[in-house]
Amino acid sequence: MSDYRIETKCIQSGWQPENGGPRMLPIYQSTTFKYDTSEHMGKLFDLEEEGYFYTRLQNPTNDAVAAKIADLEGGVAAMLTSSGQAANFYAVFNICEAGEHVICASSIYGGTFNLLGVTMKKLGIECTFVDVDAPEEELAKAFRPNTRAVLAESIANPALVILDIEKMARLAHSHGVPLIVDNTFATPVNCRPFEWGADIVTHSTTKYMDGHAMQVGGAIVDSGNFDWEAYGEKFHGLTTPDESYHGIIYTKKFGKKAYITKATSQLMRDLGSIPSPMNCFLLNVGLETLPLRMERHCYNAQKVAEFLNSHEKVASVNYAGLPGDKYHELAKKYMPKGTCGVISFELKGGREPAVRFMDSLRLASIVTHVADAKTCVLHPASHTHRQLTDRQLEEAGISPGMIRLSVGIENIDDILQDLEQALSQA
Ligand code: PLP
Repeated sequence: MSDYRIETKCIQSGWQPENGGPRMLPIYQSTTFKYDTSEHMGKLFDLEEEGYFYTRLQNPTNDAVAAKIADLEGGVAAMLTSSGQAANFYAVFNICEAGEHVICASSIYGGTFNLLGVTMKKLGIECTFVDVDAPEEELAKAFRPNTRAVLAESIANPALVILDIEKMARLAHSHGVPLIVDNTFATPVNCRPFEWGADIVTHSTTKYMDGHAMQVGGAIVDSGNFDWEAYGEKFHGLTTPDESYHGIIYTKKFGKKAYITKATSQLMRDLGSIPSPMNCFLLNVGLETLPLRMERHCYNAQKVAEFLNSHEKVASVNYAGLPGDKYHELAKKYMPKGTCGVISFELKGGREPAVRFMDSLRLASIVTHVADAKTCVLHPASHTHRQLTDRQLEEAGISPGMIRLSVGIENIDDILQDLEQALSQA
């Protein structure tokens, strides 16, 4: 981890050129890497020596970007995946197997809700969804002897619930399990979950980290702080020999990097889902300007939230930057520089005016995307969360008329003009 500030890390961390080497991160678009002796290659397979041999496991372009993201979060190691979905799946599956249990925030992104509530259930992993705003005594009831992790988003998509990270970390740790925080919306520029006790951070790098809608990707970062050996029976995959890897004990051989090494050498080996080197290159370009973009996203979103909040056709606005917002104080504590550019709001009259408003927008586009340089809009009940029942929508903090507006980095006056003219037609 370097001592530079985050703006500098976004530019300087990761790729370190040698004397005479390319200053820009090169794209190692190669599946394989050549060795002079078969013995050397054998040592790589045994994890006895470090080196590249097959891109599904490691690639220099991907590794440089993973190292940058680990540095931005203040972690010890990171693994990149081909999507945010894969990142959340691997983050949980790396420490949880059939017959075990996880606890997840009910306000989580719809894709993660499905992953845990439906798909992982078929693998024999049960999930209890909880309201993270509930008091600690209430939340403690969700833990079981076979619970292996707690998962929540630092800023929930799209409900914009701000997570009380210290509270959730305390709860998870007092039950001997790690807290996994999906930090996609806040990004490490605005929130550093490890500094508040989180153990693992995940990202959909598809969002602000990329920032230009160029690639789908994910990341898992390990703080290196969770003591797996203290709860060795629960996390036996990390603390007992891995027969599929010559009897290696990850915690013994890799110490603080045990969790990421296991995820790479076991899950990536068996399940795939690596990002392409080209996509990692694009992600790296996006990361260089992340702090500049986040500053502008937050500035623009604040102005938009204030505008909507005082508009006669708007019933309610969720944005933690507004002093009256339920999460204003938590946001000031965990995200003092601002939260993100995403706002959710509801028009008077619910679903129908919402659809008319969206169809009237000219600058903002209707896309299944969020957290991007371009202003965009989506109706969660008919798009990302359409698989949820009304009850599940309610638990996820989504009303049928809720509009999710992702404020971009265009000129604020143009954004406000577009919203004004669309509201006049809603
Ligand atoms: N986590 C959050 C908070 C998200 O918003 C998303 C997607 O919107 C994901 C994870 C899934 O990421 P991806 O679309 O890159 O698979």
